[in-house]
Amino acid sequence: MKCWFCEVIESDPKKALNLKLYGEVDATTSESITKVKYVLHNVDVSRCQLCKSKHRLSVIAFALSCTLLFISLLSAILTAFSVITGFIAGILVGAFAGIGLSGIAYAHGILKGTHSVNYARKNHPEVKSLLEKGYKFGKGIKDHTREIRSAQENDQSIATTATSGSVENKKS
Ligand SMILES: [Zn+2]
Repeated sequence: MKCWFCEVIESDPKKALNLKLYGEVDATTSESITKVKYVLHNVDVSRCQLCKSKHRLSVIAFALSCTLLFISLLSAILTAFSVITGFIAGILVGAFAGIGLSGIAYAHGILKGTHSVNYARKNHPEVKSLLEKGYKFGKGIKDHTREIRSAQENDQSIATTATSGSVENKKS
């Protein structure tokens, strides 16, 4: 199978992008406990070694660039209040903004010839059809006070169920 992202290189099963989605199928409230039943669905998007590296590198470049831009912005504020002045202020504001912006362009450029992870989250056909059915990204545990119960109560009506479980959420 060809890599879904570049459509050129043969995909490596170990490098696949795993996306987790969940859909709530049932929520019942009795007294103070809300019992939410949901289904989890794993989508493995085929990917090659090169695209995985590009994705990782792009994320790192983007994160570093944002950090530099943040420092630049912070320095600009400090300069405005005359906390820092002169050469240092110039370097921090100007150079960091310049490097930060070109870093973002670089992060974008890395993804040339491939689709981004974000693109897959919106446009992969399997993900798209799940989203249209009301599925959301994640494992279905928005609130960490919820406890995962045993996955014995499978919902028979959902044919595409990968795994199924139910959670309880105490309302205060
Ligand atoms: Zn690829």
